[in-house]
Amino acid sequence: MKKIIIAIDGPAGSGKSTTARELATRLNYLYIDTGAMYRTVTYMALKNGCENNPVEVIDRLKHSVIGLNYQDGVTYVSFDGVDVTEELRTKEVNALVSTISKIKEVRENLVERQKKMGLSGGVVMEGRDIGTAVFPDAGLKIFLIADIQTRAERRLLEINSKGKVESFNDIKQNLEYRDNIDSSREVDPLKCAKDAYQLDTTELTIKEQVDYIYNLAIQKLNQ
Ligand code: C5P
Repeated sequence: MKKIIIAIDGPAGSGKSTTARELATRLNYLYIDTGAMYRTVTYMALKNGCENNPVEVIDRLKHSVIGLNYQDGVTYVSFDGVDVTEELRTKEVNALVSTISKIKEVRENLVERQKKMGLSGGVVMEGRDIGTAVFPDAGLKIFLIADIQTRAERRLLEINSKGKVESFNDIKQNLEYRDNIDSSREVDPLKCAKDAYQLDTTELTIKEQVDYIYNLAIQKLNQ
């Protein structure tokens, strides 16, 4: 059976990760969370104190190995062989990741790696620019949106479920802040590809979202 690339883009909290993971499981495809890669570069920059020095960030990135390994609902991430999974969703990384993601050479480097990961198809890749920059020829492109209140509530539930506490307003502000930078940056901004299916998930359950995209994927596979 042929295997396609499914690109899922959208702002933070629109349901990309949950939907993409579930879809990949149903199709027996590889799931790739590209946000985790940008978060890894940000964490590395903070750890080395070079977050204000793009030249050093790029140099360190060029000589690094980023590993993604999805298992039982979790994307385990390593940087140069060291597991950094638990370090990627801190307030510090949330606050800086969109700034690091604006750097042209950081994007070029990560997009190149992402292209290689999808070479043989059979991939569900989620991010901000998958349908526009990483795989402009993807077999199926989805752009998810949801209202900001719902997105912030989802993120709060996710954080609470890990036993962590954050204020709703802080979460909402960070989502708006990141969306703003992500949508207005010069290189590969967050936007809906012309040939993407746009889906508003505000009122949808996860099953409804996944069913909708799964049916589209089956149609594409049968074409
Ligand atoms: O998906 P997630 O919310 O973890 O992504 C974190 C940040 O990484 C985004 O806010 C964005 O700045 C950046 N990102 C990006 N391009 C992608 C994926 C994520 O710029 N393909």
